[in-house]
Amino acid sequence: MSSIVLFGPPGAGKGTQAARIMEATGLPQVSTGDMLRAAVKANTATGIEAKGYMDAGNLVPDEVIINLIKDRILEDDAVNGVMFDGFPRTIPQAEALSLITTVTHVIAIEVPDEKIVDRICGRYSCSGCGMVYHDTFNPVDSSGCECGNWQEKRRADDNAETVQSRLDTYHQQTSPLADWYMEKGIFHPIDGDRAIDEITGDILIALE
Ligand code: ADP
Ligand code: ADP
Ligand code: ZN
Repeated sequence: MSSIVLFGPPGAGKGTQAARIMEATGLPQVSTGDMLRAAVKANTATGIEAKGYMDAGNLVPDEVIINLIKDRILEDDAVNGVMFDGFPRTIPQAEALSLITTVTHVIAIEVPDEKIVDRICGRYSCSGCGMVYHDTFNPVDSSGCECGNWQEKRRADDNAETVQSRLDTYHQQTSPLADWYMEKGIFHPIDGDRAIDEITGDILIALE
């Protein structure tokens, strides 16, 4: 089993690209953020523990995240590998991951901080299918989402205050992983400050 990691700051476009790469590679998207939000909504023990960290824009403890991933990887759709979105975010998480699966590519979507706030504050998604949209950069069709089950959803943590602490957290705790993966020769930086389609094209070339 071998896997891909989508890496980058909050709002870089990881989820947006994951949906497209999933179509091209068949690898299922595994988003720890989505898994945690589902746990919060379902009021599980994990969700109750995670909520305070998420609301504050801090990382949920490594142990909680690693346990989520260990369970997820056992599901049937993961036999040929998965595409991680928003995981790993610390070196201990990456070390734990290396014992679970071989990471073949780390796709790093790079976007300058000053663009991130606008991206995150305009983000919404379709709760019918999970497709990510943006108020100005990628709005949903006037007839609704193509899944036919359009319902707008916004995240509680997508506000200007939390964005800044999520960015600080990224720079302090997650960005050191870039060097860690670069040393392993599997790190592929991609300019994420361009049109969505251009970025997808470059990612697919990097994965070839
Ligand atoms: P992440 O998963 O990295 O947090 P998302 O994929 O949710 O990021 O994207 C964050 C926001 O930015 C969304 O509203 C999305 O529609 C928008 N977005 C994604 N890629 C681009 C891009 N290349 N240019 C402009 N906006 C984008
Ligand atoms: P973003 O769109 O900002 O990249 P995510 O949806 O990936 O955000 O994550 C939302 C929140 O969930 C994070 O701010 C953090 O609190 C928590 N989280 C998600 N993935 C991880 C992880 N791998 N390690 C620790 N915390 C995580
Ligand atoms: Zn939809």
